[in-house]
Amino acid sequence: MHFCIVGAGFSGAVTARHLAERGHRITVIDERPHNGGNCHTARDPQTGIMLHHYGPHIFHTAQETVWQYVQRFGRFAPYINRVKAISQGRVYTLPITLLTINQFFGKTMQPAEAREFIRQQAVQDMASPRNFEEQALHMIGPALYEAFFKGYTTKQWGLPPADLPAAILKRLPVRFNYDDNYFSHPYQGIPVEGYTTLIETILTHPRITVRLNTSFETFQSCNSMDHTLYTGPLDRYFSFCHGRLGYRTLNFERIDAKGDYQGTAVINYCDESIPYTRISEHKHFAPWEAARFSRTVCFREYSRLAGPEDAPYYPIRLAGETAMLDRYVRTAMTARNVSFLGRLGTYRYLDMDVTIGEALAACQIMDDHLAEGRPL
Ligand code: FAD
Ligand code: UDP
Repeated sequence: MHFCIVGAGFSGAVTARHLAERGHRITVIDERPHNGGNCHTARDPQTGIMLHHYGPHIFHTAQETVWQYVQRFGRFAPYINRVKAISQGRVYTLPITLLTINQFFGKTMQPAEAREFIRQQAVQDMASPRNFEEQALHMIGPALYEAFFKGYTTKQWGLPPADLPAAILKRLPVRFNYDDNYFSHPYQGIPVEGYTTLIETILTHPRITVRLNTSFETFQSCNSMDHTLYTGPLDRYFSFCHGRLGYRTLNFERIDAKGDYQGTAVINYCDESIPYTRISEHKHFAPWEAARFSRTVCFREYSRLAGPEDAPYYPIRLAGETAMLDRYVRTAMTARNVSFLGRLGTYRYLDMDVTIGEALAACQIMDDHLAEGRPL
């Protein structure tokens, strides 16, 4: 069969590779001038530092198969994400750990004492928190919530935390020890040559052709192929017939400096009075080579509602969006010769490992359908 795959991010690359290895012919198109989707990295022409163009990406997973899969295509250097947070003029460690709690409250508590202390701080009468704010008050109490989450979340999502789902906060742990690893997964790292090289290696196969600077809307040849795997925005595929699904987008303000600007990769700015959410210093995402750069490049990150021309980053998924999404899903079920995949094709926030895991699972389903002669 001949497949048209729209999007050269992880979703498109992983499915392309699998289908090519099964003997199919694949044309991958992407409207951007580069491979890699939102994980795109490239060396800065001025400094040589590897930059993460759409925001910092750290690979972390608990899925052994996904970890093994990515090792096939590139070398990963160990990397532990340790985030700092500035609140009311002081620097802390994030996620909330025993260090954060002791520093914030000016104490020297041991784990059990801190657990009891936070239990007393927490608002107890919320058996099942209905939103982000209630979840935070229930988990950590008002003082830590206001210092670390209220302002940051309002900036990040453009809404008061009481209007946001509790699930967003559940992504972050609260620890009663000094483990300041932002993630809890056993495997964590960064590809030494960057994500774009890794994804290009996945795409390097004699039966895969990649066409960059090519949008689905202008690529007529797709119609003559047997099947399309579409990893672009679901609403865009259907010409926004049910309306536009809401996204947050990001603006990055570049800072060039000498030496070391902030001494670490990521500092979050939790106060609402500071308009950006965080500053990331990209050479620190590659500690194995950071010392060889005398200059440094950082980005202040500003979050706002995406307009029609903006790159979609975070799906908003409030009640209005989920009702619209249902309509698109019903429409997608009736569309012929096309399957939807990935963070934009399914309108969900997906980490890279989940993206890869889902792409591999989709390939398994396609294999089964093809083996049984059923339509995809
Ligand atoms: P994408 O990477 O978005 O690829 C889709 C591609 O389709 C794009 O290249 C786009 O140009 C192309 N396309 C879309 N429409 C069309 C069209 N009509 N015609 C042609 N081409 C089209 N995950 C982690 O695991 N760790 C992290 O630290 C992390 N950090 C993140 C930080 C930010 C700011 C964001 C927003 C996400 C982060 N992620 C992280 C998630 C990660 O970016 C996604 O898991 C990954 O990008 C999903 O890959 P994808 O292929 O599904 O989508
Ligand atoms: N968050 C916060 N303060 C911080 C970091 C995170 O309030 O310093 C909130 C914010 O709402 C964010 C959520 O916690 O969306 C989950 O954190 P994560 O790091 O997963 O956020 P992401 O940048 O991926 O949205």
